[in-house]
Amino acid sequence: MATQRPSFPVRLTPTASAATRGRMPAAPVKPVVPSTPSMASDAVRARMVQKLAAQGISDARVLRAMGAVERHRFVDSALVNQAYEDTSLPIGLGQTISKPNVVARMIELLMGAPALAGKPDAKLGRVLEIGTGCGYQAAVLNHVATEVYSIERLRGLHERARANLRHFRLATVHLMLGDGMIGYAKGAPYAGIIAAAGGEAVPEAWIEQLAVGGRIVAPTHSAKGGQALVVIDKTPRGLERLILEAVHFVPLKSGIA
Ligand code: SAH
Repeated sequence: MATQRPSFPVRLTPTASAATRGRMPAAPVKPVVPSTPSMASDAVRARMVQKLAAQGISDARVLRAMGAVERHRFVDSALVNQAYEDTSLPIGLGQTISKPNVVARMIELLMGAPALAGKPDAKLGRVLEIGTGCGYQAAVLNHVATEVYSIERLRGLHERARANLRHFRLATVHLMLGDGMIGYAKGAPYAGIIAAAGGEAVPEAWIEQLAVGGRIVAPTHSAKGGQALVVIDKTPRGLERLILEAVHFVPLKSGIA
């Protein structure tokens, strides 16, 4: 048998050994999210939401959703203490989870879809997310939309998102492995389409699969060489396009891997 038994005395982690000996480690400078008590993470998350509001996120539905989803459950255990900081974090396979501020900003834009105009308490209908990654944004979207279809091209991340979301038992989130460049026709038409990866331009398939009254929010290559957020509304009169601030997203790639 190749199973290794621990040798004694077992080496404890510094925190554990200090606690075992009754000595507490020095107080941490930054708010720490322990993996156990959810109340502590609630407090840290509430501070994150306050910060989002101070940064200009004003849609109550979005702030509530950001406050509800436990971001620390989606990141590697080594990064748990950074889960609520305004920073993007690696999620494996060279991909990143966006900063909370960017997630909130994009979802707030999505909630500005023409069909929801003047309905500050309404939910979006069916939403398509391109780039599931670790599944965090899909979980946030689940709070503001009646149904979420999320597609990921990397099998490893698709499976990781599935494992991460299992804890939440979300019956209205559907994860698909596939190339999001062609959208997901089976779920169309969508009230909203949101992309977490940036390509040359918004694929025609997304526009076709968008409902009238719906909105696309996506990073795309900008004329200046970087990326910018693009908003496309489908109205009865046709498409309305708006180019907003510069952003930095991982590239939109075709095919599955
Ligand atoms: N929303 C994610 C962020 C993921 S980063 C989260 O909350 O974690 C963007 C993701 O888009 C990456 O996982 C990348 O693999 C994926 N991606 C890039 N091009 C894609 C495509 N054509 N179809 C589906 N997913 C794609």
